[in-house]
Amino acid sequence: MSLYEAAKDAVKIAQKADNIELVQKVLDVQKGALDMQEKMHEKNEEIEKLKSKIKSLKETLEHKEDYYLDKSVYWKSDDKEQLQPYCPSCFAKEIVIPMQKAWPRSSAKNSIWVCADKQCNTHSNPWDATLN
Ligand SMILES: [Zn+2]
Repeated sequence: MSLYEAAKDAVKIAQKADNIELVQKVLDVQKGALDMQEKMHEKNEEIEKLKSKIKSLKETLEHKEDYYLDKSVYWKSDDKEQLQPYCPSCFAKEIVIPMQKAWPRSSAKNSIWVCADKQCNTHSNPWDATLN
């Protein structure tokens, strides 16, 4: 039985006793129980939201461990040959966006790489220290 239900029963008993003062007090307790129940419901919703936020942050953290920073860009940890760079600006915002070759030259290492997100506009040649 919830506190609210118990208070409801107490109101009935107090009404039978014909004690107006007691009925009023029990009604106050009942209202208090109802307010408390609503607050608990709000808190539970808040807890659920925070749990889901924690879950998504954990996933982001686990995801981040799959990449490493080298030559001012990110690489997948299994990309030892460094074939596909990822945008460092987007990575700082928790988004993993691959970089694409722009103005391709004879080899990947001679090319300028740009972020695939057109609004980001980050570009670099990871292998050319003079551009970074
Ligand atoms: Zn970017």
